[in-house]
Amino acid sequence: MFDELYQEIILDHYRHPRGRGELEPPKITQEGFNPSCGDEVILDLRLEDGRISDIRFHGRGCSISQASASMMTEAVKGKTLAEAHALIQQVLAMVKGEAEGDPDALGDIVALAGVRNFPVRVKCATLAWHTLEEALRSAT
Ligand code: ZN
Repeated sequence: MFDELYQEIILDHYRHPRGRGELEPPKITQEGFNPSCGDEVILDLRLEDGRISDIRFHGRGCSISQASASMMTEAVKGKTLAEAHALIQQVLAMVKGEAEGDPDALGDIVALAGVRNFPVRVKCATLAWHTLEEALRSAT
């Protein structure tokens, strides 16, 4: 279904998720759900000095939804809110096929570009990113 390398990257994040777990309070918690696949992503994050100082996720779902959450927590930790917003927009555009992903800026996240030809899977790949967007919106 996907490019083999992309598939390997996704499976690696699924099997060895980065940033999986929960944070102690004080924290912001945001739940995301993708009913078309049954994916669930719950984000715990902490904002300090306009940055995402820590972020974890838990939940359950298909390999793409969980791998995407793993990639996201790794990518946005330490970023300013403006940087996080820019990254979210870049990833959503790439996954929906509206723009090419920049491998230098995105790293492993470019593997998610493989879903663009599978509309049902786009929702799996974007779940964590929409959930982060929601969390930042309610926090600011
Ligand atoms: Zn899914």
